[in-house]
Amino acid sequence: MTMPLCCPSGHGCNAPGGNEPCALALCRAAARDEEDAALAQSRWGALEAASEQRERRFRRRAFERARDRALIALAMTRSDRVTAARRRVSRRPRSRSGRALAA
Ligand SMILES: [Zn+2]
Repeated sequence: MTMPLCCPSGHGCNAPGGNEPCALALCRAAARDEEDAALAQSRWGALEAASEQRERRFRRRAFERARDRALIALAMTRSDRVTAARRRVSRRPRSRSGRALAA
């Protein structure tokens, strides 16, 4: 059984339900904002271009490292944005009471 190389085992193209987006699609969408996503994309291209067995193995590992970093970065950035939005909402009343105390 051959597993698609583009996605981590159990996720994306390898998800049991098959309803997860491909890691390559995520990287392509984020390549402009995430350096690792752009790197993963270019390393995937290099892997596809490689024909020699040993080179493929090396390129595959390089791609997987960049892809995993990109996926982590995307998950962290997204949750960071949520936290920032929450902070923005709760900051307003706090700064108002701060000003009231100072006055
Ligand atoms: Zn995939």
